[in-house]
Amino acid sequence: MARIDPATQEALLERVRFYRDLGLTEFYRRPVDAALLAQLAAEPIAQPSSPIPNQDQGMGAPGLASETWDSASQTQTLHEDEATSPRRPVSAPPQVAAAVPASGHAAALQIIRDEIGDCTRCALHKGRNKLVFGDGDPNARLMFVGEGPGADEDAQGMPFVGKAGQLLNNMINAMGLKREQVYIANVVKCRPPGNRTPEPEEGNTCSPFLFQQIDVVRPQVLVALGATAATYLLGTRQPLAGLRGRVHAVRGTQLIVTYHPAYLLRDPRQKKEAWADLQIAMRELGLKLPAKG
Ligand code: SF4
Repeated sequence: MARIDPATQEALLERVRFYRDLGLTEFYRRPVDAALLAQLAAEPIAQPSSPIPNQDQGMGAPGLASETWDSASQTQTLHEDEATSPRRPVSAPPQVAAAVPASGHAAALQIIRDEIGDCTRCALHKGRNKLVFGDGDPNARLMFVGEGPGADEDAQGMPFVGKAGQLLNNMINAMGLKREQVYIANVVKCRPPGNRTPEPEEGNTCSPFLFQQIDVVRPQVLVALGATAATYLLGTRQPLAGLRGRVHAVRGTQLIVTYHPAYLLRDPRQKKEAWADLQIAMRELGLKLPAKG
């Protein structure tokens, strides 16, 4: 097979991500030859009309309020529904575990981490550099749940530390909180190859650990970042558009569903909608809402 230069490789990866947004994931498992890779990379890639923000351009309410909403963004919403939901049913979430006293949350989380160990329970361990367990305050009132580690997270062993993580930090700050005050975890603890959506077998194998983490932390509010997180937390696949904008009851906590920060980086027009979701979480937490301008 011919060698692929880094620029072509990056263009191809961007196209793969774009196809994933369109719900096309099957080609991950097909052999692709170099000629096809070069052809794909040479084709123009559709871009959102708004530029991707730099790492310091965050989710602050003023910026979000100025974002526009149009029919094209609604199309993108449907695409994320299709792209990040498992295609086969997910397992029903397990029974909620008995509550752990607040003073024991950190130790209980460490027990879960020890139980996971150097896990080989699903195929995702094969490509893993570092297992990404979770991060944050074991007694947090607010917990975010993402899909799975990306390249930066896999390298550092921490959730949401890449560009999407920086955007999540900005989202948290816009809510009037610091990252250290929340808890963050993913449906799967190991990076899926090429950042693809976890297969149902992988999500079903790993998500019980997430449920254990939730049962220990017992946040007042859970925020599902993207359709995959929402699907596993709710135990059923539903379009993201039908899940956003309201409060769900999950494991004794209130669940808010919003877009994954990686998706917001690709389509910043949706940040206004995400901010509306976060304000629902703020209301449930009793946090001060921004004045309406
Ligand atoms: Fe184990 Fe979860 Fe990693 Fe699969 S994704 S190997 S179940 S820790």
